Amino acid sequence: MASLCVMKFGGTSVGSADCIRRVAVIVQSAAAQARIVVVVSAMSGVTNQLIAGAHRAATGEKDFLPKLMGDLRAKHVAALEALVGDSQNRERIAGVIDDVLAELERLLQGTALLCELTPRVLDAVSGGGERLSAPLVAAAICELGLRSVAVPATEVIVTDGHHGRAEPLMAETREHAEAQLRHLIDDGVVPVVTGFIGATADGVPTTLGRGGSDYSATILGAALGAQETVIWTDVDGVKTADPRLVPEARTIPQISYHEAAELAYFGAKVLHPNTLRPVSSAGVPVWIRNSFKPEKVGTRISAKGMSNGGGVKALTAIREVTLVTVGGPGIVGLTDVLARSFGAMAAMRANVLLVSQSSSQNDICFVIPSTDEKEAVEALRSAFAPEIAEQTVEHVSARAEVAIVAVVGENMRGIPGVAGRTFSALGREGVNIIAIAQGSSEYNISLVVEAASMQRSLAALHKEFRLHEGVPAA
Ligand code: ADP
Ligand code: ASP
Ligand code: MG
Repeated sequence: MASLCVMKFGGTSVGSADCIRRVAVIVQSAAAQARIVVVVSAMSGVTNQLIAGAHRAATGEKDFLPKLMGDLRAKHVAALEALVGDSQNRERIAGVIDDVLAELERLLQGTALLCELTPRVLDAVSGGGERLSAPLVAAAICELGLRSVAVPATEVIVTDGHHGRAEPLMAETREHAEAQLRHLIDDGVVPVVTGFIGATADGVPTTLGRGGSDYSATILGAALGAQETVIWTDVDGVKTADPRLVPEARTIPQISYHEAAELAYFGAKVLHPNTLRPVSSAGVPVWIRNSFKPEKVGTRISAKGMSNGGGVKALTAIREVTLVTVGGPGIVGLTDVLARSFGAMAAMRANVLLVSQSSSQNDICFVIPSTDEKEAVEALRSAFAPEIAEQTVEHVSARAEVAIVAVVGENMRGIPGVAGRTFSALGREGVNIIAIAQGSSEYNISLVVEAASMQRSLAALHKEFRLHEGVPAA
């Protein structure tokens, strides 16, 4: 039997009628060799528009809603008209678009009325873009003579109830995927599943976090036992650094799950941080390819990666993070200071990106997304209230305007001097390193620097490790 491949197309790849037509051609040519399940993002910009609309409605404003809905309708209907020739078919899909928009408008009207935006409503609103794009992509595939239907992921991907960052329940998802998708696949129909969204076992819509369509693709790949997952995006593959920050970044032909996961975790937007989790244990390869240049082979992510002995392979950076410090001379004797700090962070589900402790133990510091800063500082001040009162703990402080820069590669332990070269290169550039962490796996060395020196740091390290040459320096 032909192999099964899950293909995900990102927002830019479905950003206009022309792009969607290109996607349909990619699917058509792949369908000649394998059975295909498609996962789609919202058309580019739509998720941002919906989220901004939800926050605006929460202030009680609603006059902007007709324009927002009109703009979204115009964008999707323009693509529909360019893509679908048959008028009956067009009317049917326009009806689907209007139904989704009417539902979104009701949710936003309700938000404005109550002046309250619950995480549950935010998820229902922000996932609307995928429900609008999936019927367009399915229609474009049908136009090429294949059979294709849009399938809402709320009927396939079952998640926990953690709105905004839901996690899949794999056993339930497997059952739903079998029931909803298998017969389509077996009949040669291409299902086009909405990325980014899922639903709880009770049917409440959730989202997997921003950029979550990548994760949707590997969740479905694992649930259906696909032989590979291809993430089609707007760059040639995983690069040695974010090409917007380091223009000379090169495409990496092969990379390991560990390395790619490390890059994704530390902010490389090309992959949602959890993307590799569902497929890595089964060893299913993931490809990153450019939907605008399908002739390029892209990057293959697998267990082995390049198996070239290791070394620095790529750099990444995260902005909009805050360094939180809990410190004071008295904390030396406090044996549970780490447990209590992380307990407080876990209770609010803050994503602790990096931890560092000075050897004198006078300070522990960690980095969290800036959006969690206020709540984190309050939680820590309350957790250490007695020690702050008696000055055992002197301060809980937060410093924004910092960035994490991470040097990523396999087996860096086996290659002496990586840390030394990292620090020397930054020293020569006059970059002030605020904190350092190195994972025991040695897949990364991560540094906290001032946000203003982030780009300079990336440029200096890219040069130091000769990543522009396309060969990982040893
Ligand atoms: P999509 O809409 O297809 O999901 P994204 O914008 O989410 O696309 O991700 C692709 C973008 O990720 C690229 O355009 C690039 O700017 C950015 N990016 C950041 N780091 C990297 C990296 N190391 N390799 C490739 N792209 C990266
Ligand atoms: N549309 C969603 C977002 O913008 C999911 C995705 O693009 O992967 O975050
Ligand atoms: Mg993305």
